[in-house]
Amino acid sequence: MKIITNIKQMQSWASAARKKGKTIGFVPTMGCLHDGHLSLIRKARHDNDYVVISIFVNPTQFRPKEDLRRYPRNFTQDKKLAQSSGVDVIFYPKAHAMYPDGYKSFISVGELGDVLCGASRPGHFRGVATIVLKLFNIVLPNIAYFGQKDAQQAVIIKQMVKDLTLPLKIKTLPIVREKDGLAMSSRNKYLSREERQEAIILYKSLQAAVGMIKLNNKAPREITKFMRKMIRSRSSARIDYVKIVDADTLENVKKFRGCVLICLAVFFGKTRLIDNVIVRV
Ligand code: AMP
Repeated sequence: MKIITNIKQMQSWASAARKKGKTIGFVPTMGCLHDGHLSLIRKARHDNDYVVISIFVNPTQFRPKEDLRRYPRNFTQDKKLAQSSGVDVIFYPKAHAMYPDGYKSFISVGELGDVLCGASRPGHFRGVATIVLKLFNIVLPNIAYFGQKDAQQAVIIKQMVKDLTLPLKIKTLPIVREKDGLAMSSRNKYLSREERQEAIILYKSLQAAVGMIKLNNKAPREITKFMRKMIRSRSSARIDYVKIVDADTLENVKKFRGCVLICLAVFFGKTRLIDNVIVRV
């Protein structure tokens, strides 16, 4: 396994591989790898000749008061996990190489970036789309893999790829959960023992919502109201949003039709967790 920190070197490696007719599967991450990341890596390994992952905690997707500085980092462990999952290259650039002095260009993602997580984290998806496009231009993947865990991110990246006619395919993979249902996340490390226990309510509330949708006798608003009540029963929980939206357009749904995304963001103490479920009605 190679570790490449230099942008030009990464680009040359990727273009040499592509010239030889090899396919590159790419998994962008912020590191502190867990089984959620590894599921994407395994799929990329299965589908492609080469697997490249990036580990980069992208400053432009964090707001000033967010957790950029304390975001968990563990490169030693990440290297071991990547190697044992069959990664060929870890691209591990420095922030000042990705955003040198005088950096100016950003991707505007439109209204998809203003709702849900974008409403409470203005500019977040502008930063995400920008870094993902930069990484695509450096790693030159045939297929890039994203987790359904970040549902809004996946929708926005697919839209960007379509709108900008980028020559690659996006695959979205299911959420990997802990045994008790909590979605795996690097941020779970921040939770106190009590918060970790209380956070189980997120998946429980999503499952309750799925059950209610299947019974087909409640409107989306009644279901989200019920979910909020469930979540509020946990003392360390503070709701950012609980919504049922169209899975493609992210617009609120008033009536169930097609594919809906039940999604939420909830703080436990200072830690903001997200989770979601897609239901085909
Ligand atoms: P991150 O390192 O949090 O930026 O995540 C990198 C990629 O892994 C993103 O595409 C995430 O959606 C995906 N991912 C994170 N957690 C999970 C999970 N629990 N299940 C599946 N994919 C995940």
